[in-house]
Amino acid sequence: MAKRAFNFYAGPATLPTKVLERAQESMLDYNGTGMSVMELSHRSKDYDAIHMDAIALVREHMGLGDDYKVLYVGGGASSQFYMIPTNLKNGGPLEYVNTGVWSTKAIKEGKLFGDVNVVASSEENKFKHIPKDIQFSDNAAYAHITGNNTIYGTEFFDWPKPPSNVPLVCDMSSHLMDRKIDFKQFGVIYAGAQKNLGPAGVTMIVVREDLVERVDQEKTPTMMKWKTHADKDSLFNTPPAWPIYICKLALEYMKEIGGIEEVERRNREKANMLYNAIDASDGYYVGHAEKDSRSLMNVTFNLPTPELEAKCIAEGVAKGLVGIKGYRTVGGMRASIYNAMPVEGVRALVEHMAEFKDNNPV
Ligand SMILES: *Cc1c(COP(=O)(O)O)cnc(C)c1O
Repeated sequence: MAKRAFNFYAGPATLPTKVLERAQESMLDYNGTGMSVMELSHRSKDYDAIHMDAIALVREHMGLGDDYKVLYVGGGASSQFYMIPTNLKNGGPLEYVNTGVWSTKAIKEGKLFGDVNVVASSEENKFKHIPKDIQFSDNAAYAHITGNNTIYGTEFFDWPKPPSNVPLVCDMSSHLMDRKIDFKQFGVIYAGAQKNLGPAGVTMIVVREDLVERVDQEKTPTMMKWKTHADKDSLFNTPPAWPIYICKLALEYMKEIGGIEEVERRNREKANMLYNAIDASDGYYVGHAEKDSRSLMNVTFNLPTPELEAKCIAEGVAKGLVGIKGYRTVGGMRASIYNAMPVEGVRALVEHMAEFKDNNPV
């Protein structure tokens, strides 16, 4: 058996071993075709079945009907930062909530397309919390939020309610399907696959049917219109077929283990273990996020000194715990405990933290 690390990297991130094993089994011969999925024509019957399953499984897990289009495209979540204004601008202000680095990047792109209102921000508080009582304008083109802030470790739990004609747009790159929520409250959901779904190379977009029609059909480049991809089920051009295949395997696996409810149960168990370890450490480990905004996915914290942090990271690596270093501009520690991180991984990390604290008193 291959030796697997407990991978706490923020992205690309850990995938279920079962999913990788299944991909391995079909590597040379998918379904008796004598070809790898990487080699299949994207117009073939075998690929089409994979592709349509990958779409249907997203609707199933999220409890969405046919009035939502599920798209799989390239370009990363970052490309949606310009795709959103391209497809949704309507003369009204482009409205955003700024909860961290990724929101800031989305805002920067929005400004290329129109007047941007940042209606709420936690920047002055070092992005330690999610703002409350957020209000959007009646004439806004859209209301954009970053559902989970990968770098700071904060997550939305109370969803803002924009006026009914203003679509709520959510970057779910780092918490896609981490818990059961009403996905129908969103007009657009998008996520780079490599954090919480599959491998890098594909971005999933869920967009309400009516919203693909808003784009200026004549003046917008073909590939920049969601409508182009929606009308052809993301087969207008060659899709990232292999990453989509792995997403399909991951979505199937998620169904086998009990769907989004079981994923949520595990995620809460993992996050509780880690936050309890921080809170019970007498201030040795200090969480970055305020308690009511703590992410289920990215747990950020500091040790008493940067030297101790470096030592704790290095000793963790020796125990097979990799990727617990914080983001380069934030420092400290971050454990990303996405859907595919096993409970055993978090248990091992919590044990490491307890041992480290005992061996390195301040
Ligand atoms: C990682 C991340 C992105 C960027 O994703 P790419 O696919 O690399 O473009 C955007 N938003 C959030 C919240 C992320 O965590």
